[in-house]
Amino acid sequence: MSAFSNAMRQLDLAATAMHLDSFTLERLRRPERLVEVDFPVKMDDGSLKFFHGYRVQWNSARGPYKGGLRFHAQTDLDEVKALSFWMTIKCAVANIPFGGGKGGVTVNPKELSKPELENLTRSFTRSIAPVIGQDLDVPAPDVNTTPQIMDWLADEFGKYKGQPEPAVVTGKTIEHGGSEGRGTATGQGAFYVFDAYRAKLGLDPESSTVAVQGFGNAGQEIARLFHHHGYKVIAVSDSQGGLHDENGLDIPEVIRLKKETGHLVRSAEAREISNDELLRLACGILVPSALENVITAEVASEVKAKLVLEVANGPTTPEADMILAKQGTTVAPDVLVNSGGVTVSYLEWQQNKIGEHWSETEVFQRLKPMMDDASSAVIRVAEEFAVTQREAAFIVALKRLDQAIRKTI
Ligand code: GLU
Repeated sequence: MSAFSNAMRQLDLAATAMHLDSFTLERLRRPERLVEVDFPVKMDDGSLKFFHGYRVQWNSARGPYKGGLRFHAQTDLDEVKALSFWMTIKCAVANIPFGGGKGGVTVNPKELSKPELENLTRSFTRSIAPVIGQDLDVPAPDVNTTPQIMDWLADEFGKYKGQPEPAVVTGKTIEHGGSEGRGTATGQGAFYVFDAYRAKLGLDPESSTVAVQGFGNAGQEIARLFHHHGYKVIAVSDSQGGLHDENGLDIPEVIRLKKETGHLVRSAEAREISNDELLRLACGILVPSALENVITAEVASEVKAKLVLEVANGPTTPEADMILAKQGTTVAPDVLVNSGGVTVSYLEWQQNKIGEHWSETEVFQRLKPMMDDASSAVIRVAEEFAVTQREAAFIVALKRLDQAIRKTI
């Protein structure tokens, strides 16, 4: 299953529905630049080991390339290309002045010590330094990459440039120029989007339970928000497996224990379930928050939720999309749902550039209307064109990209 071919099928579907200009379509099927690097890392035993990394710069018609860096054992060029393309669509849906890019290193960071992780980040930064910059390409966190890693990147890039340039990367720690609210922005933004669909689908806390697959930064925050707003979160999972309790899990406690031990710790009431079982649970709202391609055609036919809220990038395959649409399951698409992260990245970049630091309240006061505008634009186009929410999000983005791309020729 190729994430990139899935992404291209999504593009083709929307392009056909809206009669997208053929040059724009061809431009968006191709990256502007692919960077692939091999770089050495000094290990704790004194040896030097080579690692392989990528930075894919998909499109810059609307602004500098923008998108995260992923450290994962399965990261490859196909995945980074898909993620980079999705960032292009996402920034256009969110209507922020960025293009799309993405990077990654093929590594399981859990097998590295902290000094090794720092060496890896710094060496990778030196490898991609010639092609990044505050007005060129601005990385950020993604799967397994933290604010601390972004600080190392900013510091190493400053050395390369001979002067500090904090806006070269977003998602930094507050002490190093990060924005308030960036850590929880993806989850918070997803909840704002959920609110728009809640009204449309009548998903209230009394009738709708929630299952969250993936318990990283975004998964924890969205689970916390659902719980906080009175929804029963009946299941959560991480890469090791999940917990299920029909009466609702005590999410603040599950988060506390995950932070303390690094694992999901079972309480007396909860039973253990697999990731696959979680996706097929009877629940109202299914929230994939981990990796690509988890809702396949086979899984889709067993999904019972009314709404799939895609916090992860690319969790649903095109075949699964068709089955879900037939079943009457609404899929709120990744390029809209998780765009709160990159939107607060944009706010961080702005603060860095003008030398300001806004309060969390101020940040969310700016984020909310941006997410509301994006959600209502998508929902409106879905009705107007009688297409799925994903096609609608693509149409919103492609209209904006088409205007920008035509200006580049
Ligand atoms: N990695 C996040 C995403 O997939 C955030 C990207 C960013 O902030 O640039 O949207």
